[in-house]
Parts: sequence; C-alpha cells; structure tokens
Amino acid sequence: HARRLEKVEENVWLQFTQLAAEYKVVNLGQGFPDFSPPSFLLESLCNAVKAGSSMHQYTRAFGHPRLVKILGKFFGRILAREIDPMQEILVSVGAYGALFCAFQALVDEGDEVIIVEPFFDCYESMALMAGGKPVYISLKPQKVTGPPLSSADWVLCPEELASKFTSRTKAIVINNPNNPLGKVFQREELQMIADLCIKHDVICFSDEVYEWLTYDGAKHIKIASLPGMWERTITVGSAGKSFSATGWKVGWAIGPGHLLKHLQSVHQNSLYHCPTLNQEAVAVAFEREYELFGTGESYFKQLPTQLQAKRLKVAESLRSVGLQPFLPEGGYFMITDISSLKVDLNDPSSKDEPYDYRFVKWLIKEKRLGTIPVSAFCSQGSRADFQNYIRFCFVKDDSTLKAAEDILRQWK
Ligand code: PMP
Ligand code: GLN
Repeated sequence: HARRLEKVEENVWLQFTQLAAEYKVVNLGQGFPDFSPPSFLLESLCNAVKAGSSMHQYTRAFGHPRLVKILGKFFGRILAREIDPMQEILVSVGAYGALFCAFQALVDEGDEVIIVEPFFDCYESMALMAGGKPVYISLKPQKVTGPPLSSADWVLCPEELASKFTSRTKAIVINNPNNPLGKVFQREELQMIADLCIKHDVICFSDEVYEWLTYDGAKHIKIASLPGMWERTITVGSAGKSFSATGWKVGWAIGPGHLLKHLQSVHQNSLYHCPTLNQEAVAVAFEREYELFGTGESYFKQLPTQLQAKRLKVAESLRSVGLQPFLPEGGYFMITDISSLKVDLNDPSSKDEPYDYRFVKWLIKEKRLGTIPVSAFCSQGSRADFQNYIRFCFVKDDSTLKAAEDILRQWK
C-alpha cells in the first residue's frame, strides 16, 4: 500500500459500529438520528425524482446550480457579505468530502496543521494523507462554570496556543460546535484564534456541521465573520447534520475564491460531483429554511428545541448512576468521566488498549449499551488524558433514550 496510509489504518467507526451491530445494542454511539428526517425534506426528494430526466444525470461538478445559489444566498445573509455561488462554494460528498478536498488542496508535504483536541478523528488522518504534520493542542477542563459541569469548562491556554504557530504552520482546524465535547466557542476564543491566524498567515478550516444545534442560549459564531478571517477561512457544513439525514452525504465548503478554486480542482479530479437528486432536494429544503429563518417553523430552530429535552434526559440518566456529564452547549454529543465507576473489566487480552476502549467494549458486551471512547478523538500522546471519558449521542428517538436509561438504572 501507499506510504500515506501508514498511520491511518485504525478507525474507531469501523471498530465500534461493527461491534454495536453484532451485540444488537441500544445505540448511543455513532452520531446519527434514529428518527425520521423532516417530511418537507422527504417530499423534496420525491418531487426531484419525478421532476424530469435531468435530475437523474450529471450536474455541475462544483455543485448543482440550484443548491450553490441558495447556499450562497443563505450563508451570505449570515456572514453579511455577498457570496459568489460559483467561485466561493464547493458541494461535495458530505462534510467529509469537503474536508478531504480542503486538506488535499491546501496542505503540502511537511506543512504543519494545528488540530485542537479532542477532535473529530478524520482531521488527523486527512492531514497525514496530505503529507502534513499534525501539531496538537488540547482543550483542558477548568472550572469555568458550574456546577453542573459544562462543555464551556474546556478551554485553550492562550500561551500554549500561541506557541503552536510557527513559520511552518499552514492551517488550524477547529470544530464549532465541537464533536465530542459539545463546546461552542465564545467570541473571545475565536478572536484569539483569528488573531494568531492573521499574524502568522495561517488558514483556518472551520468544521461547523452542528452550527444550528446550540442549547441554553449559547450562540454559534462563524469565525469567517471576524474581521480579516473570510480571506483565510474554509467553512464546512453538512446537509446530513442540518436536516437529520446523515446518509444523504451532501456537504459543502465555503470560502474565498483564491482558496476555494483549489478545493474545486481536487473535487473535479476525484469525486466529480455528488448525486444530483440529493442536491436538488437539499436546495429546495434550504430555500424553505431561507424563508422561515428565525421563525418557529424553521427546522433549524425546531431541531435544537427538540434536542434540548433529549440532552437533559441523557444527562439525567447518567447522573442517576453517579456520573457527571459535561452538559454540552451544542452538537450531538456529551461526554462523561467514567473513572468513578469501579468496573472490573476483566479482559486480559486487551490490557494494552486505553481504558475507555476497554470500558466501551465491556459496556457493549455486558450491558448492551453502545457509546464511543473519547480517546479516539485525540493523538497518541494525549490518550492518557482522555481515556477516562466516553461519549454519548443524544440525537435519538425517546424510546431509544428510555431503553438506555433502563440499562443505566438497573446498573446500581
Ligand atoms: N465533521 C464532524 C464534526 C462530524 O461529526 C461529522 C460526522 N457527521 C462530519 C464532519 C462528517 O459529516 P458528513 O456526514 O456530512 O460527511
Ligand atoms: N460524525 C459521526 C460521529 O461522530 C459519525 C462519524 C462516522 O461514522 N464516521 O459519530
């Protein structure tokens, strides 16, 4: 195999999605809703299927015209700037596709890429596959709020962050709201990152797939909206996450033409485009959201309201067994420290694995509850700091959450 694959063969999704299926668990592991997407989305797909033969053929490589137009209009309004839908947007196969194009297009052999831990695992693999050198910095828990514990407690040390920027730094990757913590970055935190990007002429990859999902009044701010940042930011989004249809795999990158054109080249020469039908249906859904934005009928408003209650339900279930979850300000997930649960994992075969990996396997096999180990979201060197946490996805039907609660309550 090619050398670029050397450090990317182990994959948490491969490992734990398979195991969860094998044991038929109550699954709060992989991040996907187990309830139906909104009916207007499904209708838009049915309509697209019947709309004529062109819907079943190739469309424009960099994004179906109807979709890029509405994305430009939609995000142009949020960013308070004119976005050129043809030059400043790329639609790809999910946020994964958009991220992959960004790394391939902008990270060169030997370039340093700063990655904020804990991170969505593919950033590290994508940096490595591009020949880049990941440089890690950890969010660390500090008592900022509380009690109860909150994802806002996880913060970056300003001096440490500044020390990671060198003449070799090409890009920094942030994920806001963050997977797995649920942290929503405050304006001051984004400004600190922006100042360093500008000072050192560094590009920012901002993964905002959970941008609509904030709770308890937390406000999502786009780093691209800060002065001097549009020119150097690639913002990534996902229709799968926006409309609770993760299998659709429609995502996008938005940014200035001088950067975006290189992502378009990668995409053009690898994937070409993602399915026309899904792009058309997502376009219609965004047109609807554009009209309803900020109203109670907007799905981007309804979904977080619905998730707010689910999030509290899962937190309550965890507290019932004495666990203290970090209540997330945004996103699909919450994490909790598991070291207080004195469990005899009793599996000598896996002694070399991080504690959370062993714990999650035990939880799947013995309790039939699926979760994800948090040390999968950090570098090898930080595993010791993260191996006492596991991640729960709360974007699940109430019956699933009830089944999980029953498992937890019987525990004691
Ligand atoms: N970024 C983050 C932070 C994610 O959690 C995910 C998983 N949905 C993705 C990107 C990938 O999104 P998509 O399914 O649109 O490829
Ligand atoms: N983003 C989802 C998660 O974090 C799913 C990722 C995946 O399955 N590759 O759970």
